Amino acid sequence: MPDIIQLLPDSVANQIAAGEVIQRPASVVKELVENAIDAGATSVKINLKDAGRTLIQISDNGCGMSDTDARMAFERHATSKIRSADDLFAIRTMGFRGEALASIAAIADVELHTQQHDQDIGTFLHISGSKVIKQEATSCANGTNFLVKNLFFNVPARRKFLKSNSTELKHIINEVQRVALANPEICFSLVHNNQSIYELGEDNIRKRVVALFGKNINQNLIPVDTDTSMVKIKGFIGQPKHARKTFGEQFFFVNKRYMKHPFFHRAVMQAYEKILAPETIPSYFLYFEVDPTNIDINIHPTKTEIKFESESAIWQIIQASVREALGKFNVVPSIDFDQAGSIDIPVAPKDHSEVKQPTIQVDPTYNPFEKEKKFSGGSTTYSSPKEKTPVENWEKLYSDFDRQPQEVRIEPQEEENLEIQHEEDSFSGKSFIQFKNKYILSPVKSGLMVIDQKRAHERILFENFMAVLAGSEIASQQQLFPQTFELAADDAELLRSILEDLKSLGFDIRDFGNNSFIINGTPGILDTSSPLEIIEGVLEDMKSTVADLKEKAKEKVAASLARASAISYGYAMKPEEINQIIDQLFACSTPNFSPSGKQVLTIMPIEQFEKLLK
Ligand code: ADP
Ligand code: MG
Repeated sequence: MPDIIQLLPDSVANQIAAGEVIQRPASVVKELVENAIDAGATSVKINLKDAGRTLIQISDNGCGMSDTDARMAFERHATSKIRSADDLFAIRTMGFRGEALASIAAIADVELHTQQHDQDIGTFLHISGSKVIKQEATSCANGTNFLVKNLFFNVPARRKFLKSNSTELKHIINEVQRVALANPEICFSLVHNNQSIYELGEDNIRKRVVALFGKNINQNLIPVDTDTSMVKIKGFIGQPKHARKTFGEQFFFVNKRYMKHPFFHRAVMQAYEKILAPETIPSYFLYFEVDPTNIDINIHPTKTEIKFESESAIWQIIQASVREALGKFNVVPSIDFDQAGSIDIPVAPKDHSEVKQPTIQVDPTYNPFEKEKKFSGGSTTYSSPKEKTPVENWEKLYSDFDRQPQEVRIEPQEEENLEIQHEEDSFSGKSFIQFKNKYILSPVKSGLMVIDQKRAHERILFENFMAVLAGSEIASQQQLFPQTFELAADDAELLRSILEDLKSLGFDIRDFGNNSFIINGTPGILDTSSPLEIIEGVLEDMKSTVADLKEKAKEKVAASLARASAISYGYAMKPEEINQIIDQLFACSTPNFSPSGKQVLTIMPIEQFEKLLK
C-alpha cells in the first residue's frame, strides 16, 4: 500500500483554521474592535458596507504598530500580549491567541494603515488570501486603520452560509453592543452604508445603556453595587415590569469582557422570582470584577463562556445582590408618567347621544407593508378578526387599561372631563400623523396618543395569523421563480420543526434533504419580494426567544412571522396606510401590547405639555 497522508498546503490550512475564528462579518468586527481596545484606543470607528460583506473598516487611535510588527501581526500565533504559558493564567487583554489577523487575512482582502504615536512615518500593508501584495512606508493618522474587503471571497462555501444583510447586521450590532457596554469610557461610532447607527461618546455605564437601548430604559434601571472579597458586582438591573419575552438586554461582563453564563443567569432569575410576568426575562447589565487568576477564559477562540473558581459562592452573591437591589428600590409599581396606565385614561363618553357614531371604510385584506402588489380578497380564505365597530374597540382598549388597577389613576373630579374626542376627524384619519417614520400620533381629549408603528403592525399580523392557524389555511401564492436555499444544520432542523405551521400560513416550502429547501409559494397576504429574508427572520427570532415547551408552537410561529414581516421603523406610511393600521389595531383583541408584550401605545397627558411650556 502506498502512503496516503499528505500535508495540506498552507493556504488550505489557513482557511480551515480561519473557520474557527471567523464565522461571519460580526466575528471580524469583534476581533478588530478588541484589538483596538487592547491597543489602548479611546475612540474606535466602525464603517460597514452591505452588512460587512463588501467592507468592514475599523479605525482606532491606539498605539499603532511598527513596520516589522505590522508584518508579524498576520502570522499565526503572533501576539504581543502573552510571552509564556504562565501569562495565560492572568489575562488582562481581550486577545492573546494571536490568531485573529492571520485568520482574517486568509479569507479576505485586507489593507492596513498604521502609525505609532511618536513616528512621522507609518506602514501600509495589503494582504489578500494570506499573500502579501504590498508593503510600503506611508504617512497616515496615528493609530490603526483596517479595511477588510470581500470577506470569504476565496471560500465560497462559507460565503454561501451568510444570512441576509439584515440578519448579519443584527449580529454585528449585538457584538458592538457588547463591546460598547464593556467599555463605556471608549467612544464608538458604527456606520452602515453611510448611515449612522451608533455615535457613542465618553459615557458612564448608565449613559451607555441609555445610548444603546433608548431613553425609555433610563427610569427602569435599578443600580446594583456589591463589594465582596471574592467578587465586585456593579451595574444595573431592569424593573420587573420592563421584562420582555425575548432575550436582548441581558449582559454579564467580567473584567471588561462580555460573557455568557447560563448558571449565573439563573441566579438573577431566581432573585426576580414571583415578581415577573410569566415567561418574561428582566434586563440586566452586570459587571463583575474578579482576580484574573480566578477565571479561565481559555476555552475556545469564539466561545464567550468563562469558568470561575467558586461558581456557587458567586451564584449566591449575585442572587443576594439582585434581591437587595430590588428590595431597596421597592419594586411596587410607581405612578409614573411613562407607564401608559398611570395617566388619566380617557373612557368612552357616558352619553352616546352626543357622539356621532364614527364610520370608517375597512378593507380587511389591506396589508400596509405590501408595497407593489395588492392582495385580492377573493383568492384566499384569509379573514381578519375584525367584526366589531370601532367604538366598541376603543372601549375595549380602555377597559383593558382599567384592568391594571395599580397603574390606573382616575381622579374623581377629573372623571367629568374624560371623554375621547369622538369628533369625526379623529376617526376618519385626518388627525393621525406619522412622526419620525416610527410613531403615529393622534390627539385625544386627554393628551396625545403615541402609537409605535412596528409594534402595532406586529399585533395586527399576529392576531390575523392566529385566526388563520385556528381555522382555515391561508392560500399560498405560487412563486414565479421558486427559490432554493441551504441552511446550516441547526437552522434546517428548526425549520423542519415548523414547516407544517408555516404551511398553514401559506408558505409552501419543501425539504430537499441535505439541509436544502425550496420555496414554491408564499402567503398571498405577504410581500413576497424577499421570502427567504422573512424565513431567516423567523428562525433567528425563534432562536432568540425563550424556549418554553408550554408555549404553543403555533403561537410562536405566528409571533415570529409577525415580527419578521411587520413594517419596520423608517418606513414612511401613506395616509391611507396609517388609517388602515389604526383601524386594524383597534379591531384587535389586545391592541395595547405587541405579541412579545411590548407596549404598542401610550397617551402623553396634556399636563405634560403644559409643564413643558411653563
Ligand atoms: P491577539 O489579539 O490575540 O494578540 P491578533 O491576531 O488579533 O492576536 O493580533 C496580533 C497582534 O497584532 C496583536 O498582539 C497586536 O500586537 C497587533 N495588533 C493588532 N491589531 C492592532 C491594533 N489595532 N493596534 C495595534 N496593534 C495591533
Ligand atoms: Mg486580537
